[in-house]
Amino acid sequence: MVGLGGAMSADRLIIFDTTLRDGEQAPGFSMRVDEKLRMARQLAALGVDLIEAGFPIASEADAQSVRTIATHVQGPVIAALARCNRADIERAAWALEPAERRRIHVFIATSDLHLERKLRMSRAHCLKIAMEAVRFARTFTDDVQFSAEDATRSDPDFLWHVVEAVIQSGAKTINLPDTVGYSTPDEIQSFFSNLIRRVPSSDQVVWSAHCHDDLGLAVANTLAALTGGARQVECTVNGIGERAGNASLEEVVMATRIRHDRLPFTSGINTSEIFAASQLLTTLTGEAVQANKAIVGRNAFAHEAGIHQDGMLKDRRTYEIMRPEDVGVTRTTLVLGKHSGRHAVQKRCEELGIALERHELDGVYRAVIALADREKVVSDDDLIKIAAAARTAPEAPASVFPPVTDFAVTPAEKGYGHGV
Ligand code: MN
Repeated sequence: MVGLGGAMSADRLIIFDTTLRDGEQAPGFSMRVDEKLRMARQLAALGVDLIEAGFPIASEADAQSVRTIATHVQGPVIAALARCNRADIERAAWALEPAERRRIHVFIATSDLHLERKLRMSRAHCLKIAMEAVRFARTFTDDVQFSAEDATRSDPDFLWHVVEAVIQSGAKTINLPDTVGYSTPDEIQSFFSNLIRRVPSSDQVVWSAHCHDDLGLAVANTLAALTGGARQVECTVNGIGERAGNASLEEVVMATRIRHDRLPFTSGINTSEIFAASQLLTTLTGEAVQANKAIVGRNAFAHEAGIHQDGMLKDRRTYEIMRPEDVGVTRTTLVLGKHSGRHAVQKRCEELGIALERHELDGVYRAVIALADREKVVSDDDLIKIAAAARTAPEAPASVFPPVTDFAVTPAEKGYGHGV
């Protein structure tokens, strides 16, 4: 496979990480050069195949970031973005010059909407400068990627023409972005499979998907594009990127791991580095991921409902489709809240080194639920204090904590309320 070395099987995905380009250009996510270098090192540890390090013509800092990463980060191919003109491509080539392996990524819009309204350019001129740009980029590296911006809203007949022409001009990867997150999964699958079938030189290139999340479909569309024949995935850590973001690296990778039966693809990602990559990015940008974000959110492996906690303690597979340690999360969190059961309270006490007698556990459990009603979540510190209070009052636990007739099964464990 061009630029990536070694033989790769037909189902091996190429993970093209654009956290430092598409991700970094989103409002609130800008990083300094040293911060981008730290993130790039973590991306190398994560095992991405390519790091798109920036858009060198955009600013002096972007050019310096790409050059610094190209100098210091080994492993992944380093890529840089350029429009279809000489100045952009020369700037990208300069920034990539120190890299062991480099890719120049040129792009131009191919939809009539973008050509007419944004670029004010004819289709013929677009085709001409796309070919010239690819040929010029090839004078700096053999590894040239072409992107047809707004591909999913482009006329397939014109797109077909452009793609075949840029392959003839030397492009080795063809990226078809769903730039505005407009596609649906079945649509993008047939979009890829039809184009790949139609372009005469399609077997000479790697096809790539770049999906945005404006309708919350970036990951679903990316996976559908793979089924349609794409083998490169453009994605970002935590799904950051323009507007609603790009396809999330961790979701695409874990979907292919966990549902390999339906999505029979492999990648070179070291999944145990996923959580560290997510955490580093939030630290560098100051932008936390939402608590319920798949794979890397605070609640992704948290279980509060009593039934769920009880099941988890008996066999984790009852409520976990993947092990948190597989993505670098050190342990599952059984959150002690008002939906928790006695089993979870007892387990957490044991983890904290607190051995409780039966009558003590009854009291502690009731105090935990009472506190959780007010505070939402009971911390380990709270639990230690509650347990200490229960044990220093051995004479009259029933007076401190009103008697309850059926401690064996809590309402949640019976299936009332939440958690089913
Ligand atoms: Mn994008």
